[in-house]
Amino acid sequence: MIRSASDPGAIADAVAVLVAGGLVGMPTETVYGLAADAGNGEAVARIYAAKGRPRFNPLIAHVADLAAAEHLARFDPLSRRLAEAFWPGPLTLVLSKRPDAPLADLATAGLDTVAIRVPAHPVAHALLDAFGGPLAAPSANRSGHVSPTSAAHVEADLGDRVGIILDAGPTKVGVESTILKVEGERVLLLRAGGLARPAIEAVIGRALVAQTHAESAPVAPGMLASHYAPAAAVRLDVARVAPGEALIAFGERLPPGAEHAAAVVNLSERGDVVEAAARLFAALRELDGAADTIAVAPIPGEGLGEAIRDRLARAAAPRP
Ligand code: AMP
Ligand code: MG
Repeated sequence: MIRSASDPGAIADAVAVLVAGGLVGMPTETVYGLAADAGNGEAVARIYAAKGRPRFNPLIAHVADLAAAEHLARFDPLSRRLAEAFWPGPLTLVLSKRPDAPLADLATAGLDTVAIRVPAHPVAHALLDAFGGPLAAPSANRSGHVSPTSAAHVEADLGDRVGIILDAGPTKVGVESTILKVEGERVLLLRAGGLARPAIEAVIGRALVAQTHAESAPVAPGMLASHYAPAAAVRLDVARVAPGEALIAFGERLPPGAEHAAAVVNLSERGDVVEAAARLFAALRELDGAADTIAVAPIPGEGLGEAIRDRLARAAAPRP
């Protein structure tokens, strides 16, 4: 449902949607975002389900200011200089995540880094202030469609999946944020976007190092070393659990042999893929220490199941 962002009560109603684990169409200066409570795994899972994303790539955490960002990540001096120069604005920084950051595993796709941005839009700001925590938000379009620059675009793509779309007119910048990551003395350009290179280079006094998306994003099984990869072997779609294996189960029926498993985590007894997605990374981490092999019961590939199966297949892939 589209609501004018200037309607009295629109922000409060959007906050109520977020608190209940729902999705909000949020105007920012770049494009409209599909926002959810970044601390609520099921809410974040609903983002992936709504977009129809075939895999869990990490999302940008939106916060109100630098102080809020410091609760989520550690800032090296160069990143701090960038934040002070360009926030609020169309710049996203990839930073080292604090272990106690109030972020669902799914929001960072299990990475130990987090992408953070402070948007420069009064409505995004009002929402962040009123909500009081980080909002995970990719662009508010179905996977593979172009990014939305108006509330009507969001409605057309995701209308039945969002609680409220806050309409603040067309977005000013119209392209996504620029994404940077500081690595030692180098500043990597992970995605070109709304903040132009010369302005950035003037502030940091050095040239940006371009890095293609494929290199930066944890998309290939070979990238799993930097992603969360269990030390245990992972066996998918098991018909029977071997003695001593740990088990990731799904649904109310466990596979034969489950009674001899070293440990069991059921991603969702009621067979709900949203609940399962929210528990996936914690389950891998928990069972990693419990056995040499993690057996995974069959999980249906429909909807969010596709991304769950994609992530498990990466965990099962041979590693260098
Ligand atoms: P979108 O979801 O369309 O807003 O795009 C978010 C972008 O941020 C994607 O290209 C991600 O790969 C990138 N991103 C988010 N978090 C990280 C991270 N921790 N490390 C590297 N890239 C990230
Ligand atoms: Mg996008």
